[in-house]
Amino acid sequence: MEIKFESAFLKAAKKHASIRKLVKKKVDMIVANPVAVGEPLKGNWQGFYSCPVKRNFIIIYLYCEVCRKKGDDAVVACLDCQETPDKTIKFVLLGPHDQAYRKQ
Ligand SMILES: [Zn+2]
Repeated sequence: MEIKFESAFLKAAKKHASIRKLVKKKVDMIVANPVAVGEPLKGNWQGFYSCPVKRNFIIIYLYCEVCRKKGDDAVVACLDCQETPDKTIKFVLLGPHDQAYRKQ
């Protein structure tokens, strides 16, 4: 599995250092089973997956294999998708539910 962290995700992880352990646990779970753990998003966020870290606090990520299968890679801003292996997870954002969705 190829794992990438976007800068926005890393920044948020630093900001929310108090829940770092929780975040890390979730990241491990997502890496182990990206499809089962996450929930596919719709609308503006089509192609993305979300996974709750705790109440009202989510991780947003991309899983290249799935988004290609569904044709979502044409919708999603997955810039280097052509070069990444199928089994690539990109951690995009982390934050309180409302803020995370507003940021794109
Ligand atoms: Zn991709």
